Amino acid sequence: MRRGSTTVETVGVIGAGVAGLAAAGVLARQGFKVEVFEANDKIGGCCSTTEIGGFTFNDGALYLALPALLDRTFEAVGLDRRSALPLRRITAPQTTVLPTGDRVTFGDGRRITVQRARGTIDELLLERELDRMMSRWEPALRLLTDEILAEPLSLPRALAKGWRQLPKFRGTVAAELNRLFSDDAVRAAMSGVLLYTGIPPQQQPVISILGLVTLFSDGFHLPEGGMGQVPKALGDAVRIGGGKIHLNSRIDRIAVSGDRVRGLRLRGQELVELDAVVSTASGMLTFGSLLSPTDSPRRLARKAERAQLSHSAFSVQLGLRNKINTPSHSNCQLPLMERQGDVFSPCDDGVKWLVYDTPTVTLPELSLTGGSIIEMYPPVQRGLPIDDWTDSRDAHIVDKALEALSRVHDLDVAVTRVTSPKGFQDRLNLYRGAVYGLSPKVAPWNHFPHRTAIRGLYQSGQTTYPGYSVGRSAISGVLAAEALIQDQ
Ligand SMILES: Cc1cc2nc3c(=O)[nH]c(=O)nc-3n(C[C@H](O)[C@H](O)[C@H](O)COP(=O)(O)OP(=O)(O)OC[C@H]3O[C@@H](n4cnc5c(N)ncnc54)[C@H](O)[C@@H]3O)c2cc1C
Repeated sequence: MRRGSTTVETVGVIGAGVAGLAAAGVLARQGFKVEVFEANDKIGGCCSTTEIGGFTFNDGALYLALPALLDRTFEAVGLDRRSALPLRRITAPQTTVLPTGDRVTFGDGRRITVQRARGTIDELLLERELDRMMSRWEPALRLLTDEILAEPLSLPRALAKGWRQLPKFRGTVAAELNRLFSDDAVRAAMSGVLLYTGIPPQQQPVISILGLVTLFSDGFHLPEGGMGQVPKALGDAVRIGGGKIHLNSRIDRIAVSGDRVRGLRLRGQELVELDAVVSTASGMLTFGSLLSPTDSPRRLARKAERAQLSHSAFSVQLGLRNKINTPSHSNCQLPLMERQGDVFSPCDDGVKWLVYDTPTVTLPELSLTGGSIIEMYPPVQRGLPIDDWTDSRDAHIVDKALEALSRVHDLDVAVTRVTSPKGFQDRLNLYRGAVYGLSPKVAPWNHFPHRTAIRGLYQSGQTTYPGYSVGRSAISGVLAAEALIQDQ
């Protein structure tokens, strides 16, 4: 073995989210004895679903982008993605209503409809502008998904392949949309798609625009049966390869002996001896608490301590007995792009800018017959100490969310599900409730590396390259497993 002195036979994986399951699937397929330890009572982590009263609610991720990355993950674990995970394209992704009364609807593929409160839009010009965005950015998207994200991070390789694209990557989303589109309402609808990052368009690095480009090319998708089907399929691959998944198995300590990993200590149990470990708990948890302070490599412990975290979120999910009349998966009332920082102003006195998703537009089977599901992330105070998220604070925000939604829909509520930042921390084991772990602003070379300074210990998941989101986290699991295999 190149990096270790013993042959690796048994590998422990911390976490059964998409990264852990992808890593375990690859390793099991290669003949390693794989044991996955998941703190929760089910698999999937931030890409799972929970059924309550006949409604299938997302626990985290709401839709899939970049399907090519999932195809590559499924191939690596020995599954055919098309048959193991049929996807339904979201053909009505977004409707945005502006304060002027203008309404912008994104349809299937490159279809954009603008209904003006007054006058009409120059449709030919809009078509030309959209084509211009696509021809400018689609090559960068292809390069990213086909070549750069699917391989370990290498700046020289990325530069060699992507130097032609490099000059585009300076500036912000807002500056680029101003350059590309002449219409205020269209720009606002475009930047609205990217507000999930928790960052206003004036501060978003221009690379985020690829989120829009993928919407108009590959599309956004939902797995038939809901997001929980992704880990279900990956979990099947682990079991087919002979791997074991242990639920309700929280790891408290990664044991190290000398400079080599020795095993994992489960809460209240003996040490499980292992030859190698892949941790998919966030880098902040792996290097900040799962390794003892004396074992944690100093550089990575410092990175964990100083990590720039992503925003934390508050979610309100409603299971409705009635079918609401929404045109699109995502429905937004937004200010113009220049004012979209306002969308994040806490809603303590009321929700001003209403943004919500209705997954049942694409997958009616997620709800009771004739019903629907609404998922909403009302803006809340950021940086509040996690224990300040009390039941009464939660209830106040839910009231404001319901008040805003009732202005536009009749709500016959059967189930209300609320998750505060504390809930995200406790339910999904997210460090300080930060939804993506690291902020999307953090550059790839500041993510946590797959190989660590401890022999036999690998890090994977959304705080490693290629970063957050379902497809990218899954690929990072594949890359960490491939690093382990290469080190044999
Ligand atoms: C609210 C929200 C909305 C999102 N929306 C989208 C979206 O629409 N589209 C998209 O692509 N992405 C979205 N994401 C991001 C995406 O869900 C994640 O990037 C991805 O699922 C992360 O996968 P992972 O395996 O790296 O981590 P996780 O899913 O966090 O998995 C890690 C697992 O490790 C377990 N674990 C942690 N510590 C321990 C321990 N000590 N012992 C044992 N087990 C442990 C956890 O319980 C968890 O199951 C969203 C995330 C959130 C939270």
